[in-house]
Amino acid sequence: MKETIYTEIICKGFCKYYKEGSEELHCNGYVFLRDNFTLRELKTMIEMLRLKRDIKYKIPERDKGLTSLLCRKCDFFVEGCDYADNQSGPPCGGFLIVNLFAEHLFQP
Ligand code: SF4
Repeated sequence: MKETIYTEIICKGFCKYYKEGSEELHCNGYVFLRDNFTLRELKTMIEMLRLKRDIKYKIPERDKGLTSLLCRKCDFFVEGCDYADNQSGPPCGGFLIVNLFAEHLFQP
């Protein structure tokens, strides 16, 4: 089960695919953020990077490392994810946030 406050921030805030009532479904982008960042860290980083809700429609360039880290263990990888399959649609909100964190904070 998702934690409501993380759902508010990650899924409602940044995921094009979020649907009310689908809280038992877990994309691994969500799980990665929930398990590795406190709420305070997550909110602070989103504010620092001034992430806007319209990022949910962006299709980032394929990053093999991130796809391997997040998508291969994701429930939607098997069931069908537009981004993981062939980048015909944006990734989930969790993936987008992790991708932007990686771009802005962890690049040399
Ligand atoms: S982009 Fe798709 S496969 Fe990758 S973590 Fe998100 S929902 Fe799962």
